Amino acid sequence: MNNELAETGRLAELLGSIGQGLDQFLKFEHLDAQHPSKQWHSLLKQPLPIQGVGVNQVTKLINEQIIPNGSPVPNPGFSSFITTGAVTSSTLATTAANIASPQRYLGTAFNFVEELSLNWLAEMLGVPNLKGVYSSGGSVANLIALGGARQSAFEAIGIDPSANGIDRKVSIYASAECHHTIQRSAGVLGLGRQSVKLIDCDNKQRMKVSSLVNAIESDIKNGVMPMAIVANAGTTNTGAIDPLKAIGELAKQYDIWFHVDGAYGLPGILDQRLAELYQGLELADSVIVDPHKWLGASVGVAATFVKDRDFLLRAFTQEPADYLEGSVEQDDSPNSKMEHSLDDFGIPYFDFGVELSAPCRGIVVWAMIQEIGVQGLRQRIFRHNDMARDIAVAAKNHPNLELLDEPTLSICCFRYVDDRIDDLNLFNQRLHRRLVRENQYMPSTTKINEQLAIRPCYIGARHEREQANQLVQAVLTIGNDLINQLDGNNG
Ligand SMILES: *Cc1c(COP(=O)(O)O)cnc(C)c1O
Repeated sequence: MNNELAETGRLAELLGSIGQGLDQFLKFEHLDAQHPSKQWHSLLKQPLPIQGVGVNQVTKLINEQIIPNGSPVPNPGFSSFITTGAVTSSTLATTAANIASPQRYLGTAFNFVEELSLNWLAEMLGVPNLKGVYSSGGSVANLIALGGARQSAFEAIGIDPSANGIDRKVSIYASAECHHTIQRSAGVLGLGRQSVKLIDCDNKQRMKVSSLVNAIESDIKNGVMPMAIVANAGTTNTGAIDPLKAIGELAKQYDIWFHVDGAYGLPGILDQRLAELYQGLELADSVIVDPHKWLGASVGVAATFVKDRDFLLRAFTQEPADYLEGSVEQDDSPNSKMEHSLDDFGIPYFDFGVELSAPCRGIVVWAMIQEIGVQGLRQRIFRHNDMARDIAVAAKNHPNLELLDEPTLSICCFRYVDDRIDDLNLFNQRLHRRLVRENQYMPSTTKINEQLAIRPCYIGARHEREQANQLVQAVLTIGNDLINQLDGNNG
């Protein structure tokens, strides 16, 4: 008989079973979800269940049909995009929070660790004086930061944009390589996507400061209000870091909000070899980072850091609601004592961003930092940066490879070359498709100055250093094979 009351008392057993399924999955001995022999579509395509099957059967289905047909993203050979599988401590923390603290408010250890972990992150990533708030990803983190920028710019001219809307055109300056969530944020904030002025880049994909000055000057002349400058600390495409110091100083000079998008690249600051590139970060009014990228958190964990959370509070506050206001004690006096977790909402993260209900994400970051410490994370980032450099060296040394962009962080852009190839872009595109289908090496591609590049990006905690050279070998093997086919066709 299936009880409609939630199953209790068997979490250890049931989670243990899912744990076994995941351990097996992470060996990557299974076929890809889309392999022609796979039958899971037809097995899962069931009508709406009127009678439940019970939690044992659900666990079995998850283990047998769902997990083995999961994503290639956690595969150590996967190096596409900027996404990875969660590390174990993150998974444990997420599971704990799901049950023990379904929300990030109230006077609980989870709310406490939310703030503690934000402070740890800020200290570890070079912005110790900034205060944070978590959100679901870089998209929302950028939106929150630019909401703060909008609040600051309009309050300076006596307008509360969050209450009353805006009355004039503004500009947000970002490099042509910026993530498109900047434009989307501008759209959502009512500024218009067109308000994002794309500044051209030098041949290393970094914002040209002289072009930035020209754009600001021209806007001021035309009565457009500069609202924010967005600099990249690691572009999504190639990992380029804009000249933060020069841009930050310019922002101060013109009194414009300085935002740094470090969704991917901010943790690169842990690699001391690159520390110089992050100089100027201390000038930022806001900075974002995605722990669910390079730090290995379960997806859905980003952080926005700002100098002054009051801007966020005014930008994103909700109007008071009856069902909330009376439910907790509103005594802010210094000697008021919390005697029950329901005496206080804790730090009101729900008023610093766009989410009310939201999972506890701090526990994830806290658990990951507890597990291996700053030293462990630093070593991991070193390893990933070294992998990109291993590929760059191989590409420079091999006559059939060409390096298209010297790596800054853990991305390397290169391609296969040979005199016999007419269309290098088409050739490398074919090579890439075969690579992904036939190997466990799965980089993405991108374009560098119209040239198609194979683009491995190493952020996975399960990547091993040898995999960089193994990818190079796989590219050479497939490239040589494709060349032989060309020759065969010609003669
Ligand atoms: C990935 C990324 C984003 C968007 O982050 P999501 O977590 O995917 O929403 C924003 N900016 C940069 C630089 C990124 O790399």
